[in-house]
Formats: sequence, structure tokens, C-alpha cells
Amino acid sequence: MSCGVRDWSAGYVSTASGFESKASLSALWSGRYHPWTMKPFELLLIAALVTSACAQTPAPSKEVEAVYPEARALYLDLHQNPELSSHETQTAAKLAGRLRTLGYEVTEHVGGAGVVAILKNGSGPTVMLRTELDALPVEEKTGLPYASKVHAKDDSGHDVPVMHACGHDLHMASLVGAAAIMAHSRETWHGTLMLIGQPAEESIGGAKRMIDDGLFQRFPKPDAGVALHVGNTLPAGQVGITPGIYNTNSDAIKITIYGKGGHGSAPHTTIDPIVIAARTILTLQTINAREVRPGEMAVVTVGYIHAGERENIIPDQAELGLTVRTYKDEVRKQVLAAIARISKAEAEAGGAPREPLVERVAGTDAVYNDPTLAARLRDPLEATIGRDNVIATGPITPSEDYAYFVEQGIPSFYFSLGGADPEKYAQARAAGTMLPSNHSPLFAPDVDRALHTGITAEVAVLRKLLNASTEELRTLTGAKAQGN
Ligand SMILES: [Zn+2]
Ligand SMILES: [Zn+2]
Repeated sequence: MSCGVRDWSAGYVSTASGFESKASLSALWSGRYHPWTMKPFELLLIAALVTSACAQTPAPSKEVEAVYPEARALYLDLHQNPELSSHETQTAAKLAGRLRTLGYEVTEHVGGAGVVAILKNGSGPTVMLRTELDALPVEEKTGLPYASKVHAKDDSGHDVPVMHACGHDLHMASLVGAAAIMAHSRETWHGTLMLIGQPAEESIGGAKRMIDDGLFQRFPKPDAGVALHVGNTLPAGQVGITPGIYNTNSDAIKITIYGKGGHGSAPHTTIDPIVIAARTILTLQTINAREVRPGEMAVVTVGYIHAGERENIIPDQAELGLTVRTYKDEVRKQVLAAIARISKAEAEAGGAPREPLVERVAGTDAVYNDPTLAARLRDPLEATIGRDNVIATGPITPSEDYAYFVEQGIPSFYFSLGGADPEKYAQARAAGTMLPSNHSPLFAPDVDRALHTGITAEVAVLRKLLNASTEELRTLTGAKAQGN
């Protein structure tokens, strides 16, 4: 059983790196989902899911095929040479070099390793397409022939493995493929195309640094912005559109709890901050369960607790690190206020010598998808990748700093790109499990299908936006006219 579409990887399978989607189904169906051990309805369910996952996927156009080998080669290169946030020197140089060759006016080192590439093509609106540049401190365990083996020093000087575990390599390859098509087909659009390679997305901060470095003063301010993110929540070949709130507000909170240190054998002479921290952690979990209205989205995760050095020493302070995720601003305010209140109350209950320090150390707002823009861009996507492959999707829980561009008054379309191998996706759904998510050491998108779709979708969206006049674009985006 396979998708009723052409073999997307044909012609590329013999590259040095090989390609995972050529794996046989018998290998995919090893273990508990071997076909001979499955009941007929299970096989039918998988067949139905695979069919729906691959339904009516058009063959890639000639213009996509023409740029694809280079885009795929770039993907493999970037995947095997990932760089950590704020260290994307080689990555940025590769992106800049390719865009320069395509005729773009390229500026490097905008807000760190940021790349800005401009292609002017007569009068018309300015449209921005953004990719991230950075990878993660994750050890790749996909077993792919082109798996990353890279290690690097992180910001604190520790040696860490590095992997493009969030798919930003695929975003870059997709952007360069789309950039090549747009450069070679200037008769199909007019206006200014602005491509952005943004560093330090994973650490949240790269978008702001580019803006602070004069992104929208030194270069034209876009009338609309576009970005995508690949993931395993959709099969490759599909895209997801989420009008309105796309993802979550993210707040990183550090809580420092003060106690009174002493000998582990004499707790009565101390104020133990570890016990206060333990109570605080448990009470924080009641925010969601008891304070936030049922049905509202809120996550309060304590990701680390740092306290103490030895078993017989009661330390004098403890530190908690939290991530807080919400969709709505009012829920965000409620949760942050509850965290501060509970931290103080638990410290007081424990007899702490002073109030804890509750700091918001990082964060970003939810990305907001202009609803009018999202509605208008469905048509060109359906026309190019197939009606059944454009899916309405709900908001997701991860966060990202594209929100900073939206806050600058750039109406935006941030969409999801399916990354999952359709057969594996169908099997996982049938089994009630999920494929490894972004940031997993096992994250392995179905590159050929996802990259073809990414390039096709980006070109379709850019052409739609760059065929309007500036005034028309403002009605397309539902945005009020804004001075630059
Ligand atoms: Zn990520
Ligand atoms: Zn990402």
C-alpha cells in the first residue's frame, strides 16, 4: 500500500545520503502492526487513513521539479551541518550565497546572523517570507544516512550534540526553492519580495534583534508576512490553516525561593527552601485545575528545580524554572498573577526570611494569523496542492517569536506544513499513538513530499499576494492602511 501519487523521491534516491521514504512497508510494519497479525478492520482503517492522507495530491509542477534538486541538496547540507541559536554563521552564509546567486540584493548580519534578501520587480506591495536558521542541542537518533553527527559548544561552553530537530533546515530549503522560482518567473508577479533568514528562534530573541537592528527602517516594511512550520501532526503533502490565534503566548518564569541554610541533621535550625519549593510546585499545579476556567488553554510546567549540593547540607535558596503557555491574554494575566501569589504565600507559610523573587526571564506573544488573509489564501493553496490537502487546523501549544513581526503591524499568514510520512502517520493514528514531535531526537520529516509541498505552497501564496496592488493587499489582509 502506498500513496496513489508519483514517487516524489524518484531520481534522487541514488544520492549519497539515500532516502528514508524508500523504506519497504514490511519494515514499517514490523512489530505489533505486522499486516498478517492485524485484524481486517485494522487493515481497512490504515488503508482509509493512508488514502485520506494522500488524497488527490497533484504531481509537482515543472517549475518545482526544476529547482528541487538544488533545494534538496541544500537541505541535506544544512541537516548535516546544524548550528545552535545565535551561532548560525555558516548557515546564514549558505543562505545568503544562494540568494545572491539568484539575483537578490542580500544583506547579512542583521540583528546577529540575520539575512535579508530583496528582489524588486516593479511597483506593488512588499511581501515578506521568513525562515529560521537555528538548530537545537539534541542528539539525532533517527538512524538516517544523513543524520547529524555535529557537536558544538553551547553558550555556557558545554559540548552538546546539535540537530535540526525542529525542521528549520526544511524551511530554509523550501524558502530557497521558492526564491528561485520567483526569481525565474518575474512575469507572474509584481512588487517587492523580501526574504528573511532569522537567527535564534529557538532561544526566542532573533526576531526582536533583527527588528531592533532596523529591519523595517533599513529595508521596506512589508504589507504582509508569510511563514510556515513543518511538523508531524499532518502528513506530508498537506498544509494546515489556522485563522486567528495560531499558537501560544509563552512566558519563562524564574522563581528564587529564599531559606536559611544549615546542617542536614539539624533542620530545626534552618528554613528549608527545598521543602518550600516542593510545596510551591504542587500548588502551582492547582492553577490549571482549580483557577482557570475549564476549557481555557493553560500550561504551567516546572521544567527544572535547582537546589543544594550535598545530602547533609540544607541550602539557603532554591530556584524553579517554569514555562507558561496560554492562548488568551486574560488567561495569561490570570496565570502569571496566580504564580506570583502562590510563590509568595508558600514562602510565607514556610517561614522564609524574605519574599521569593519571581521574574519573567523570557517570553513571546502568540502568533496571530490575520483571519481575512488566511481565508483568501486557501484558494491558491487548494489550486496547487489539492483541495483535500488544505486542512483547517486548531491552535498549537508551542510558541515562536514570529509574533514580534506581527506586533510591528505586519498582517501575517503562518501556516503548518505536513511533515509525517503518510504511511507512518496512518499507522500511528490507527494505533492511537503519535509520531515523534519536533525537538525529538527521532524527528524525521518525509523530506521529499514535505519539501515539494513547502516550495509549491510558498510560491502559490507569494504569487497571490504579489499580484495585488498595495491597496488591494490591505483589503486582502483586512489591515488598516499603515504608513511605513
Ligand atoms: Zn523548535
Ligand atoms: Zn521550529
